[in-house]
Amino acid sequence: MSLSVPSPADFHVHLRQGALAALVTPHVREGGFTLAYVMPNLKPPITSTDQALAYKKDLEKIDPYVEYLMTLYLSPDLTPAEIRKAKAAGIVGVKSYPRGVTTNSEGGIESYEVYYPVFEVMQEVGMVLNLHGEIPSDTFTNTCVLNAEAKFLLHLIKLHRDFPKLRIVLEHATTRLAVETVKSLGPTVACTITAHHLALTVDDWAGQAFNYCKPVAKFPDDRAALQEVVREGHPRFFLGSDSAPHPPGTKSTCTPTHACAAGVYTSPILLPLVAHLLESFGALDKLENFTSTYGRAFYGRPVTKETETRVTLRKVEGKNIAEKWMLGQESVVPFWAGKDLNWEIVN
Ligand SMILES: [Zn+2]
Repeated sequence: MSLSVPSPADFHVHLRQGALAALVTPHVREGGFTLAYVMPNLKPPITSTDQALAYKKDLEKIDPYVEYLMTLYLSPDLTPAEIRKAKAAGIVGVKSYPRGVTTNSEGGIESYEVYYPVFEVMQEVGMVLNLHGEIPSDTFTNTCVLNAEAKFLLHLIKLHRDFPKLRIVLEHATTRLAVETVKSLGPTVACTITAHHLALTVDDWAGQAFNYCKPVAKFPDDRAALQEVVREGHPRFFLGSDSAPHPPGTKSTCTPTHACAAGVYTSPILLPLVAHLLESFGALDKLENFTSTYGRAFYGRPVTKETETRVTLRKVEGKNIAEKWMLGQESVVPFWAGKDLNWEIVN
């Protein structure tokens, strides 16, 4: 049994920089993908068009056969004029991180109102706003990782109300409430879903560093909602892996003073993993829509006859996931290391 997907697109991926980028960037294609929507949370963050274009060149040097869609990091450095320049240079989106919530987000936002002039121009020129949808933990408001996404959704609703034509993506949704909220909003609001959030619940990351990411996986019913919306084939829900590599030492050797890094790494196994998961909950027939059609449609990047690269998967007895990928001194441990997948890439 085999199936093929036209030009799979990953609409949320972290490719890092330097030696780690050299290791992980080729994994986009190894995992079956020909388009990568690249996150800007580097050190320092990508806040200008020139930085984004330089970063894109670095990635193209590593693997020129992937289409990299670049993003800017929402910060006070970003001006309406810079948005126009970015749009003219082919940059696609702007990513918003709440301050301090995830990797390299120390410069993230605290309130959206100050960015309204930027959003105004993004709406006008047609750039996409990508939201890491969590608010920072706070004792006084009883906010922690388990309700940080649910509490963020009011911001999403308000942003959509104030900028109804601005295309907004709620990234890596983890809750039933997020799914229902995105569904309730207009055609300009979409949602990415990761592979690992289709698999994990709280029990899987509590005590297991390699399953720990932000936002954290939630309750079984939340996972069920993510699976249902994929199975239903809702066109505004599509794959963004949020594949986020960290050196294994920052995951597995946390100490009382150094917490473990948040991020699950799925790039090198992504398409077989998604097929495996979708099959497990009866949604294998939605693989093409979820990994290619819907995301590309929302971003206005449909597959054409000239650009199409079909990736073929075949069903196997059990393909073991390597424990580690290495290059020089760098290494990364993938999601489900040592486990078996029921699908592998043929070509
Ligand atoms: Zn991310």
